[in-house]
Amino acid sequence: MSVIEVKNLSKTFKSKVKGKGLKGSVKSLFKPTYKTIKAVKKVSLAVDKGEMVAFIGPNGAGKSTTIKMLTGILYPTAGDIKVLGLDPRKDRKKLAYEIGTVFGQKEQLWTHLTPYDNFKFFGAIYDMKDYEIEKKIEELNSLFELDEFINTPVKSLSLGQRIRCEIACSLINDPKILFLDEPTIGLDPVVKENIRSFIKRMNKECHTTIFLTSHDVGDIEKLCKRVIIINNGTVVLDDTMENLKYHYLNKKIIDAKMKEKINLEDEKGIKILKDKGYNLKIEVDIKERDISDAIKLLDPEKIIDINISNTPLEEIISNIYKKDK
Ligand code: ATP
Repeated sequence: MSVIEVKNLSKTFKSKVKGKGLKGSVKSLFKPTYKTIKAVKKVSLAVDKGEMVAFIGPNGAGKSTTIKMLTGILYPTAGDIKVLGLDPRKDRKKLAYEIGTVFGQKEQLWTHLTPYDNFKFFGAIYDMKDYEIEKKIEELNSLFELDEFINTPVKSLSLGQRIRCEIACSLINDPKILFLDEPTIGLDPVVKENIRSFIKRMNKECHTTIFLTSHDVGDIEKLCKRVIIINNGTVVLDDTMENLKYHYLNKKIIDAKMKEKINLEDEKGIKILKDKGYNLKIEVDIKERDISDAIKLLDPEKIIDINISNTPLEEIISNIYKKDK
């Protein structure tokens, strides 16, 4: 069952063009000229209940504009949206009770209050009864392991602890869909992993549908089974993570420690990335050359150690961005 259904969604902004120089700016003050920006162009997508979807794209691709339209903050220029069967244009308030949002870069919690008081506050905003809020706090406390700092003012928490509380608090009203925007931005790798495991746990235990935006490939790879890529306002890819890797992984990296130097220059399908001393790093284009064939070229007798890896997902994604520029 789809919880998000979008058909031919478009958004065009009209923005004033500033004139150049003093004369120009005076002229544009009295006779403004406008330019139109097609931020989102005929986007269609559907997300099923319980899915964790990564909605990604380079800067200015149209992600925020799309999310703002999905949550009822912006009105579309054209197209249809149904979120949990509701039209965000007409039912924004009703929808607000059913969805949650977390922005890694924006604090939503009251920083002078403790997480506990924030939970109470937001619970009351959602018209929850006191005993319902207490019950929910207990659940969230155990799911997100907040015990240690639930009574410490948010302003004194570490960034990782605060994000944990932001996510927990966004769940106070049991949202069916959670929009997560850059949830791990600014965190160190260990804390990032920690936050990801909490998100995974939440999705598993609460069956919350997650619509994630992130520039962090780790978030995308570790959390989402499906990726939607938007570029220049258009969806350029909507596929499983598995397919994305499979179709775009036509290059393998071989890192080898050799007994003696070997010359692979001018070999078809081989690109030398590093050739220093007895350490050799090459990229093999497997459309042009079999990986076993590439190993034979190295001569197994001369190999001390070898490691074969795939192109990092980061590179695959940035190649898709470049291709659709
Ligand atoms: P980022 O990753 O940098 O946050 P994004 O994918 O979220 O980017 P959007 O913020 O949706 O991109 O912007 C898409 C395009 O629409 C950009 O060209 C942006 O300048 C333009 N845009 C967004 N909001 C407005 C607005 N209120 N008025 C005019 N143009 C806008």
